Amino acid sequence: MPLVQEQFFDIGANLTHESFTKDLDSVITEASKLGVKRLSVTGSSVKDSLEAFEITQRYPKTCISTAGIHPHNAKEYSTSAFSEIKDLLKNDLVKSIGETGLDFNRNFSSPEDQQKSFEAHLELSIELNKPLFLHERDAHEKFVEITSLYLKDLPKSVVHCFTGTEEALKKYLDMGFYIGITGWLCDERRGKHLEELISQIPLEKLMIETDAPYLLPRDMDIDKSSRNEPKYLNHIARKVSEFRRESEELVFSAIYMNSLDFFDISV
Ligand SMILES: [Zn+2]
Repeated sequence: MPLVQEQFFDIGANLTHESFTKDLDSVITEASKLGVKRLSVTGSSVKDSLEAFEITQRYPKTCISTAGIHPHNAKEYSTSAFSEIKDLLKNDLVKSIGETGLDFNRNFSSPEDQQKSFEAHLELSIELNKPLFLHERDAHEKFVEITSLYLKDLPKSVVHCFTGTEEALKKYLDMGFYIGITGWLCDERRGKHLEELISQIPLEKLMIETDAPYLLPRDMDIDKSSRNEPKYLNHIARKVSEFRRESEELVFSAIYMNSLDFFDISV
């Protein structure tokens, strides 16, 4: 056993998801017992961002939240809807803007709607100087094109749930973005390439997340249909250290400090 308890920060957990309604208390307690001392609850629509904020008020020592409109929901973007996001961001526990970005994988909202909403989020992050929680799937080129226009003024930003190519990773690192790694890394079907890429991320730009209840790490010895939970974050952290061939002590403490710093949390 290490002398100091390991500490983890789950930078993306969808705790507003209905699968957590009944037992959120125990989900957070169990995660905490396994070292997950901090969680950022992801907001993905106006309603969801409000609910994420409510969770932070119930667990202010553990939880912070994001406020934003996910690209899937970009069709709900309007000036008035966005003013609610802006209001939410006045709260101290709402630490970051997002998720926002582009997702051309399924286009639940049209690319035009996604772009409009995304640009509004980028502008707001500059206005408020709050970090950005970014989502990009199958939209790398357009994502780079848009963010490049704002890059010189952008606050700290993380491309969360990175699953892309080496080329995309290099570009995001060049642009100064942090990289969020999920249990996708533990997926033998589609995450193999991340095993190689993970060492290319400078330790000071790396953070981890579960994206619970989605993306259960597939190599854990539990039923594959289980929901993912923040308590499994330590599994992802161990894989990161293993694939980087760096000590757990070094990797865990760096990632934790990066996350506190990213969300501007003083301990
Ligand atoms: Zn996302």
